[in-house]
Amino acid sequence: MKQERESLEFDIVFVGAGPANLASAIHLGRLLKRCNARSEKALDPAIAVIDKGRYAGAHLISGAVLDPRTLDEFFPDYRESGCPVEAIVSNERIWYLTEKKKFHFPFLPEPFSNRGNLLVSLSRLGSWLAGEAEKEGVQLFDNTAAAAPFVENGRLAGILTDDKGVDREGNLKGNHEPGLLLKARTVVIGEGSDGSLLRRISGLFPPDTAAAPQRYETGVKEMWSIPPGRLKTGEVHHMFGHPLPSGIYGGGWLYAFSPTLLSVGFITSVEPALPACDPHFNLQRFKQHPLLSGILEGGRMIESGARCLTSGGVDAMPPLYGPGFLVTGESAGMVNLQRRKGVHLAMKSGTLAAETLFEALLHDDFSIDRLKTYDERFRKSWAFDELNAARNYRKAFDRGLYAGLVQAGLQLTFPGFSIDESNGHSRDEKTKAGSKKVPSGIAGKELFRPDGLLTFSKEDSLFRSGTMHEENQPCHLKIKAEDIEEICLKKCTGEFANPCIHFCPAKVYEITAEPVPSLRLNPSNCLHCKTCEIADPYGIITWTPPEGGGGPGYKLS
Ligand SMILES: Cc1cc2nc3c(=O)[nH]c(=O)nc-3n(C[C@H](O)[C@H](O)[C@H](O)COP(=O)(O)OP(=O)(O)OC[C@H]3O[C@@H](n4cnc5c(N)ncnc54)[C@H](O)[C@@H]3O)c2cc1C
Ligand code: SF4
Repeated sequence: MKQERESLEFDIVFVGAGPANLASAIHLGRLLKRCNARSEKALDPAIAVIDKGRYAGAHLISGAVLDPRTLDEFFPDYRESGCPVEAIVSNERIWYLTEKKKFHFPFLPEPFSNRGNLLVSLSRLGSWLAGEAEKEGVQLFDNTAAAAPFVENGRLAGILTDDKGVDREGNLKGNHEPGLLLKARTVVIGEGSDGSLLRRISGLFPPDTAAAPQRYETGVKEMWSIPPGRLKTGEVHHMFGHPLPSGIYGGGWLYAFSPTLLSVGFITSVEPALPACDPHFNLQRFKQHPLLSGILEGGRMIESGARCLTSGGVDAMPPLYGPGFLVTGESAGMVNLQRRKGVHLAMKSGTLAAETLFEALLHDDFSIDRLKTYDERFRKSWAFDELNAARNYRKAFDRGLYAGLVQAGLQLTFPGFSIDESNGHSRDEKTKAGSKKVPSGIAGKELFRPDGLLTFSKEDSLFRSGTMHEENQPCHLKIKAEDIEEICLKKCTGEFANPCIHFCPAKVYEITAEPVPSLRLNPSNCLHCKTCEIADPYGIITWTPPEGGGGPGYKLS
C-alpha cells in the first residue's frame, strides 16, 4: 500500500554536499553564532544539507590542486582544525607530449603557477567539511537525492527526495519508503556539473536572458601507489598533446601527494560533435607515454573514477538566483579552466550565498530582491574577476591546440583577450553533431588490450571506484522506448556507430546484435559522471538520480 510522503520544514536546504555548499553551510553557521553572541534575540534557523552519496565525500572527485584563497578567508585556522591537506605544491612543470617524446615549457606564466597551493583529495576534504558543518548545527542527510522540485505559489518551496524500495517495474517492495518533502524558505543548489535538479528548475523558471551554451569536459582519474624514489612530495605536472590530436581539447596531470601516492588523470572535451571520443581510453593511452609509464611501473592502481566538469566559463553561467533558490559552485559553471580549478571558486560562491542567507534570516526576507544580492556580491568579488579574465581561454581551443596556446599566451598579457569574441556564442553551429571527424585514437581502440598493470579495462576501473547500486530499482537513465527503436538502433547506428559504448567510462551502454539488435543498459555500473547526458548527439538520454546511496564510493579521489 502506498504510504504518505512525510514533510519536514527547514529554513534552508542545501542540495549537494560538495565544497560549494559545505563552505556555505559552515560560513552561515558561524555568522549566526557570531550574531547570536551579540544579540538578545537568537536566530536559530533549521538548516539541512542533503547528498546522494552513501557517506559524505562518497561522490566527490577532483584532481586536486586547491587554491587556498577562500579557505584562508572563511576558515583561517583550517590547518590547525585538521583539514586533510596531503601536500603543498613544491615544484611543477607543463609538458607537451608527442607519442614518445616530451618537451617542457621553459617558464611557467603566473596564472598557471601553483606556488603555495595545496594538494588534496576532494573526497577526504568533503568528508572533513561535512563534519565541520555538523559542528555548526547543520543537519546532514546522506543517502538522499533531490529527485524533484516542489513549487508553491510561483516559487521553489522545497524538494522531494528519492523514493526507496521500488522495483524495476515500478512496483512497491516490502521495504518501500516514500521520499520526503523537505520544505524550505530557500533551496541552495550545489549539485556540481550538470545537476539533474537544476535542469528541472531551469525549465520551470526559464532565465530572462540566454547565456552561451555550457561546455563540458570529462575527467577520468586514478589514484596510484608507487615505489618510492621517483617523485618528491608536492610535485605537479600538467601535460598537453598525446594521445589527443590537435583538434580535440584535453590534457593530463600527475600530482604527487607523497613519494608513493599519486593522482593521475586525463580530461577530454565532451562535445556532441565528438561523440565517439572515449575519456577512459584516453587516460589509458596517456599512461602509456614513457614519461608516465616510467613513473607508474611496478605500482598499483588503488582507486578510479570519472566526472564531467563545466568549462564554458563566465559567459555560460546560468542565473545565480531565482524565486526561492540560489545556485552555487559548478552548478553555476564556476570553473577556471585556464587554471584547471573550481574548488576555490565553488567555496567562494558558497560563502557569498551564506552572507546573503544570513541577511535574509536577519531581516526575515527571502524575497527575490533579497536573493538577488547574492548575484551582486558575486559580481563584485575576486571570483568573478578571475573567471572574467579567463573567459575566452577554452573557446580559443576550438581552433585547435596551437591556436589555443597562442591565444592563451596573449590572454596572460591582455586578460579576457579573444581573437573572435563571438565564438562562444556560435558553438551550436560549430559543434553540430558530426561536424568533427571521429578522433584518430579511436581507430587504435579496437586493437587495444589493457594489461591490468598499467592500463585497465572499464570493468577493472569500475571495480576500483567502489560503485554500488540497489539492483532491483527502476533504471535511472531514461530513454523513451520509441527513441531506442528509431534513434539508437537505426539512426545512431548509421550516423555515429552508437558512441554511447565509447563515451561512457563505466560500460553502462552496450549494443547487442543477437538475436536482434538491442540496447542493453547496466545502470548499476553508473559512476554519476553525467557524460552521457551531454555527449549523446540526439539529446535523448535523461539522467535522473537513482535511489540515494547508490553510485561511487570514493575515499581518496
Ligand atoms: C577530474 C576532475 C579534476 C578536477 N581537478 C581540479 C583541481 O585540481 N583543482 C580544482 O580546484 N578543481 C578541480 N576540478 C573541479 C572541481 O572539482 C569542481 O569545480 C568542484 O568540486 C565543484 O564543487 P561543487 O561543490 O560545486 O560540486 P561537486 O564537487 O560536484 O559536489 C556536488 C555534490 O552534490 C551531490 N549531488 C549532485 N546532485 C544531487 C542531487 N540531485 N541530490 C543530492 N545530492 C546531489 C553530489 O553527490 C556531490 O557530492 C576538477 C574536476 C574534475 C571532474
Ligand atoms: S551512464 Fe553513468 S557512468 Fe555512463 S556516462 Fe552516463 S553518468 Fe557517466
